Amino acid sequence: MSQTPHYRRILLKLSGEALLGDEPCGIDPQLLGRLADDVGDVSRCGVQVALVIGGGNIFRGAALASDGMDRVTGDHMGMLATVMNALAMQDALERRSVPTRVMSALKINQVCEDYIRRRALRHLDKGRVTIFAAGTGNPFFTTDSAASLRAVEIGAELLVKATKVDGVFSDDPVTNPSARFYKRLTYDQAIAERLKVMDTTAIVLCRDNGIPLRILNIYEAGALTRVAAGEDIGSLVVT
Ligand code: UDP
Repeated sequence: MSQTPHYRRILLKLSGEALLGDEPCGIDPQLLGRLADDVGDVSRCGVQVALVIGGGNIFRGAALASDGMDRVTGDHMGMLATVMNALAMQDALERRSVPTRVMSALKINQVCEDYIRRRALRHLDKGRVTIFAAGTGNPFFTTDSAASLRAVEIGAELLVKATKVDGVFSDDPVTNPSARFYKRLTYDQAIAERLKVMDTTAIVLCRDNGIPLRILNIYEAGALTRVAAGEDIGSLVVT
């Protein structure tokens, strides 16, 4: 990466679906590798990178509950799914010699560290990509909310949400080609217009703590690197 880093510390939210690629479920290893390349590039240029990874490529509590499972049990399974994705990303990063730590909101000490904020800050200060797994550790929340929460806790200057499209649209641009693209919008606009940015809890946390939120297309190679260098790509949600 040749650009000068614009941020000291960012948090990237990757949904589980972003890891799916062309696979019906689980993780596409090539896509995982490409994402790890991008994260590694940003980290190597001196930006502290925290990651929150979803679990929707494996389990979602609400979907399991709609099939009859107890919702809390389903959410526990969803949170454990995020741990599996986090371990896969840690492995991909370490194979690229990027120092990485996984910290879980649920205690699973034999496979990763517990989430302890001060320890997380130390990992970040040392330039380790720090992956926050198991969401918030509580059922009925999402990993979007976990991303906002951790971004606030670690003092991230930017929360980047990676999606499959180029940013925020008034409708799904895949099915509706005339959907309007928002280059810049406010948190309240995102909530009032029910735009598919993040869930409301996540947006409110960002709004109340002044964390800018950038939505970008993770399938566009180098997009994360360009954002880390301060380029205005994708959509920006601010006050
Ligand atoms: N989950 C939870 N609490 C959290 C975060 C996640 O219970 O704080 C569970 C929930 O069941 C969710 C699943 O983990 O459906 C996977 O997370 P999410 O749906 O946010 O993943 P993504 O859509 O980003 O892949």
